[in-house]
This record gives sequence, C-alpha cells and structure tokens, in this order.
Amino acid sequence: MAKDRSFASKVAKSAHLSVRHCPVCGDVVSMIKQVESRQKEDTASWGFKEKFIPVCKCNEKEVLG
Ligand SMILES: [Zn+2]
Repeated sequence: MAKDRSFASKVAKSAHLSVRHCPVCGDVVSMIKQVESRQKEDTASWGFKEKFIPVCKCNEKEVLG
C-alpha cells in the first residue's frame, strides 16, 4: 500500500498549504464564495461577479449573518 500512502500524504500536504490562520484571532480562515449580481453600466445587461472572501471568527457574523 505504499502507493496509497504517498497519495494520502500528498493530499494532506496540499490541504495543509491551503489552510491559513488569521493573525488576529488565530482561527482557521476559510474562503467563502460570494456571487454578486449587478447591472453593467455600459451594456445595461446583468452580470455576475464572483469573489472569495476570507472568513474567520473576526468577521463570520457579518459575512454569514
Ligand atoms: Zn480573525
């Protein structure tokens, strides 16, 4: 099972790299995808803008309601 183990450690490593901790509260920062719908000024058509916001204990109440 050497193959499986190396795969698992690879996944664990990349998952670890993507985890960030907030310097203020020390909590794990998760990226929340938020989609805004808005009207484009030039074409008067509706567009969607996706953005990722970092959420930790500092702002989870504002962001998640
Ligand atoms: Zn924080």
